Amino acid sequence: MPTSCSLCERIQLSEDPLVIRRSSHSLLYHMPGIDLPGYLVVAPLRHVEHAGMLEDAELADLARLQATATKTILELSGVRRVYTLSFGEVLPHLHIHLFPRTDVMVDDPGSLHEGVADGPRLFDRWRKRLAISAPSAQVAELVERMKKRSV
Ligand SMILES: [Zn+2]
Repeated sequence: MPTSCSLCERIQLSEDPLVIRRSSHSLLYHMPGIDLPGYLVVAPLRHVEHAGMLEDAELADLARLQATATKTILELSGVRRVYTLSFGEVLPHLHIHLFPRTDVMVDDPGSLHEGVADGPRLFDRWRKRLAISAPSAQVAELVERMKKRSV
């Protein structure tokens, strides 16, 4: 672990209300600061900067958790796609955003390009639009429901 990594710190916490599941090598948690139920993040427990640094067991575990989480997100009302992104610019610990793209988002002309959903524009626009300082009641309720069904 480097001297300061907010994700390593999250992993060290014994109680984190946004953590949905901790598997053998991976963590699944709800994205903080955005009021979008089902916006999840999956990350390896070990601090690595990209998937090429993962051991086979870590990679398999991470992929399984990502796949299960994606299926769960797609069961949510109004979600048609799950955008999967990883940047590593602000937080260098590998983490994969699983962003639910909802019907409401594509009804917004500002999220489209030539009548089709523009993924990068939509992602940026709705992250800003839904920014909050604390988890909303609907995010907290969904996290609790997902914990009970173990994703
Ligand atoms: Zn880290």
